[in-house]
Amino acid sequence: MSLISKRSTQDSADMNSISMNGIGIFGGTFDPIHIGHLRTAVELRKALGLDEMRLIPSATPPHREQPESNAEHRMAMLKLALGRTSKSCNLELRESGLVADDRELRRKGFSYTIDTLKELRAEAGPETPLYLCIGMDSLIDLNQWHQWSELADIAHIIVAARPGWHLPKSGEVLEFVRAHRATNKEQLQETPAGKILIMEMTLLPISATGIRQALKRGESIRYLVPDSVIDYITQHQLYTDTNNPTPDNPAQEIQ
Ligand code: ATP
Repeated sequence: MSLISKRSTQDSADMNSISMNGIGIFGGTFDPIHIGHLRTAVELRKALGLDEMRLIPSATPPHREQPESNAEHRMAMLKLALGRTSKSCNLELRESGLVADDRELRRKGFSYTIDTLKELRAEAGPETPLYLCIGMDSLIDLNQWHQWSELADIAHIIVAARPGWHLPKSGEVLEFVRAHRATNKEQLQETPAGKILIMEMTLLPISATGIRQALKRGESIRYLVPDSVIDYITQHQLYTDTNNPTPDNPAQEIQ
């Protein structure tokens, strides 16, 4: 079954349950999902007091090389990471407030964030605050995004930055930030969109690139991604150089 062609109402986010506290949007290729993504999403949701944080895998990212694993695998790993494997795990899903949203995988063409925001705004209505969460690395290149200057018309933009982060020293992104900048999260609650808040966070030094490279070298990725995701990667032989063993596969692990 292709995730792109068929929507599963059970697996997708449910807009009927939206309340006014707002929705976070955390996009990425998630190739694969790792605990750096998960921890940041949990902490941002909590810090902003959001009902839910949508993790939205990009099908065809316009600004970078294409993902190594296909959309179906990346979505399956995301759902496993969120614990959505059985009814009993729905409780965990609710507690963490993280929701897998496959809308970009169902759309054709490039996965533009502006299109995702327009869809969510249409579904959530004009009053619900939307919070687009990005890293400082993404903010610096924001003017490369499709219809970038309209993003803040539809959502707030939350920038997760490591301590000691730097804004661009000049240019249109800096002007954009200055025009929309909020200094505290209370200012965001006054409107459904239009503010940019930079939040200093301790980001775990983990990247999907590093995880893919470790797997190709035949190294363990235990504790960098959830065990359920390791099992999936092993089972489907993802990111694996066929000359190297998969050390997280219990059958092959060297003690
Ligand atoms: P890759 O190494 O393939 O570029 P990645 O690990 O950076 O992948 P992406 O899926 O490209 O992950 O990123 C999705 C989002 O997660 C981006 O907003 C990115 O800034 C953020 N992100 C990536 N790694 C971390 C991390 N360690 N901690 C917090 N956020 C992260």
